[in-house]
Amino acid sequence: MASGTVLRSHAGGYLVYDPELDTVFQCAARGRLKKERVSIFTGDRVELDEIDPEQNTAVIATMLERENLLSRPPLANVDQVIIVQAVHQPEWNPLLTDRYIVHFQLELSPALPVLCFNKCDLADESELEALRSIYEPLGYFVIFVSAMTGQGIEDLAKALAGKVSVFAGQSGVGKSTLLNCIEKDLQLKTGVMDHEFGVGRHTTTSSELYRLSFEHFPAIRASQTASWVGDTPGFNLLELKHPQPTEVVWQFPEILKLAQDCKYLNCLHVVDNDCNVLNHIDEISLGRYNSYAAIVSDAQLEYSRRQVTSQKVEANVKKVGGRAGKEISVPRLSTKYRAISRRREKQGQYEEIDTEDDELDATEHDTYNDGIEDDENLD
Ligand code: GDP
Ligand code: ZN
Repeated sequence: MASGTVLRSHAGGYLVYDPELDTVFQCAARGRLKKERVSIFTGDRVELDEIDPEQNTAVIATMLERENLLSRPPLANVDQVIIVQAVHQPEWNPLLTDRYIVHFQLELSPALPVLCFNKCDLADESELEALRSIYEPLGYFVIFVSAMTGQGIEDLAKALAGKVSVFAGQSGVGKSTLLNCIEKDLQLKTGVMDHEFGVGRHTTTSSELYRLSFEHFPAIRASQTASWVGDTPGFNLLELKHPQPTEVVWQFPEILKLAQDCKYLNCLHVVDNDCNVLNHIDEISLGRYNSYAAIVSDAQLEYSRRQVTSQKVEANVKKVGGRAGKEISVPRLSTKYRAISRRREKQGQYEEIDTEDDELDATEHDTYNDGIEDDENLD
């Protein structure tokens, strides 16, 4: 059976690329997949049936196992995230870099993100060496480039060859300029992070994969299978993923090594009390330790915020729906409406939506979920 990769999913269907036939098919999902509530995302690998080579149409018969799913942009089976940072303009921010690293490690585990430092034309060699000496010993692949002078662009192109990649990084670091050096006229959708804590404009509802032709890199073009990049996500810092406070350390290999010999169970390694990490703090980069401590503090805030929210939510919702584990939460009616609702009930009036006392039956349940699925596929 033919198979391929979803390049785009939208309300009307899917575009699927079949590498054997080197063809893009316009596809619909087989009804059974919808019934089973299989959500197919861009990047998913699927098996095709009922291929019509004249119309270039087909039907998606099965979705194959998914390796990973990035939440923003919504994209499955991503091989690597390229975190782009500028050395200057905007000034390199070690904490922001580490926040991106942690976010994408959590999203794409166990794959490590690639670090791409752009605008190297604005830095001297010693600054670049300093950056290299922080990240390379930790196992990260570090690429230095300048979209302005072309330095390192071929290295970046090589890193993209044969893979599915996503570029990430705050606005202004040069993502679009870099991608444009590699492929002219690439029409990526770019999410914007307007400000560190501001509200950005996002590209969340759909995503697309774009093929790289490596027109200017004949050596790469000749030797590789298809290479793809996804839309560039935009988000503000409040949306970055947080681990549990005690699990932040797993994202910092150099701190983890010391933490494993810390005598305190559940130590966060931020208070000096004969903690093994703090006893050996001079063995690690101070910037990295500061990032670690800041991210632990973020995680603690997030953790307590979540606890408060979940207490509030629990007080305000009730579970409905009969099947075990499949119930959904609906808001409790406020006392005022509850009183009206009871009165109506007594009077034997029919109520269309009675979230207070009715259990949703199977049909209503399905409608509820279908609505969600359709939203996901909106363009
Ligand atoms: P994006 O928001 O990350 O996509 O960033 P852009 O690609 O829009 O670039 C932001 C600005 O940085 C633009 O004015 C670019 O001309 C400039 N820029 C991009 N790459 C370089 C570079 O390597 N060196 C210098 N000096 N400027 C660059
Ligand atoms: Zn400790």
